Amino acid sequence: MIGAGLAGLSAATRLAGAGVDVHVLEASGTPGGRVATEHVDGFVVDRGFQVFNTGYPRAADLDLAALDLGFFERGAALRVDGRVHQFVDPRRRPTGLVGTVRAPLGSPREKAALAAYALRAGYAPVARLLRAPETTAEAALRSAGVGDATLERFVRPFLAGVVLEDELATSSRYVDLLWRSFVRGSTGLPAAGMRAIGEQLAGRLPPERLHLRTAVRAVGPGSVTTDDGRWTAGAVVVATDPATATALLPGVDAAAPREVTTHLHVLPRSPWPSPLLVLGQPGGRVVNTAVVSDAQPRYSPDGRALVSSSTLERTREADVREEIAAAHGISPGDLEHLTSVTVPGAQPAALPPLHLRRPVDLGDGLYVCGDHRDTPSIQGAMASGARAARAVLRALRPSEVSLPA
Ligand SMILES: Cc1cc2nc3c(=O)[nH]c(=O)nc-3n(C[C@H](O)[C@H](O)[C@H](O)COP(=O)(O)OP(=O)(O)OC[C@H]3O[C@@H](n4cnc5c(N)ncnc54)[C@H](O)[C@@H]3O)c2cc1C
Repeated sequence: MIGAGLAGLSAATRLAGAGVDVHVLEASGTPGGRVATEHVDGFVVDRGFQVFNTGYPRAADLDLAALDLGFFERGAALRVDGRVHQFVDPRRRPTGLVGTVRAPLGSPREKAALAAYALRAGYAPVARLLRAPETTAEAALRSAGVGDATLERFVRPFLAGVVLEDELATSSRYVDLLWRSFVRGSTGLPAAGMRAIGEQLAGRLPPERLHLRTAVRAVGPGSVTTDDGRWTAGAVVVATDPATATALLPGVDAAAPREVTTHLHVLPRSPWPSPLLVLGQPGGRVVNTAVVSDAQPRYSPDGRALVSSSTLERTREADVREEIAAAHGISPGDLEHLTSVTVPGAQPAALPPLHLRRPVDLGDGLYVCGDHRDTPSIQGAMASGARAARAVLRALRPSEVSLPA
């Protein structure tokens, strides 16, 4: 297995569980790949704003209780003409219904159209969602009756922060599946940071099977070359990021990478009464900003508030400080800059036509998995790893019952 991101770890843990002799070669010093966290001045800082959604089908593979998730409210806050409006899921917070109905997001009919779209994505069978004609997210939402105000003030900034593009050119099929997980689950942060997800999976492997700081330079049928020598194996699974996978495996291609820049600030205390994602303004550079320590208090060492704000274009902290402060209704001078990070290959684009479940078995004992094989998400990475493990097991142990999904 090459790569200890969530795809590689999902595949490796399944294969190890089935008794296969698995070794994972990982270039970096930690498992988890892009789902990474560091500590800065005692604060838990994820590499970019990332959240775990319990509505993902592959959440079933994790011990969620052990992750000790702290949750955001389902919905978002937005500011129109300086006033804050909360747009929350009334199924979870019935008292928020009044604010949601009054939010300046177009006519009641337009708001009802968004609710109907969400219910269809959340509860129609997946097969029916995937049978629907594919178009861009914007075209699909407009044809569902979602009007300009809802689209510009809520849907566009909300989705832009997830799919990392704000033209809503992303496949309507992917957005249907994403919306499904938002309807069915909650978004949260593990107490120890997002990296706890990869660490939990890695902890299921015998330690001597995970080889950190071991970069793979070349692969071939049954062989893997590192700086220290050559490994042989009955099956070689490339579970790297998309760019490395396409370099190691001629014939494998991946969609263009999306980039995101995230700025972290500290505030003496949170200006919000509950954990909410605050959406960026139409025409602004910040797509979303949130007091992440409201959702997960363990992100702060001392009760001060940790604010995470993301932009799709590469920005400097000074470029967006005022916009961040305005979103939270505070003075720019209140924000103490902690750190900033730009992640160039955050996720591959998911433009139509979306190739869900791209092949993972390349023949000759070579396999590939990663978010570029399914959807650009934690769910996509884990699902592709599960598929690769099943393919490997089918080849190595054709007589055995296949692994569960
Ligand atoms: C800033 C940011 C925010 C995100 N937010 C969310 C979110 O909120 N929700 C969500 O669902 N998804 C989110 N994603 C997407 C999600 O994190 C990824 O889709 C998923 O983690 C990809 O996992 P992977 O295993 O396919 O790839 P990776 O995580 O890239 O893992 C690949 C691994 O291979 C290793 N590797 C690379 N080259 C080599 C080599 N030559 N030899 C050995 N090892 C190698 C890498 O070091 C890495 O550990 C976000 C991503 C980013 C970056």
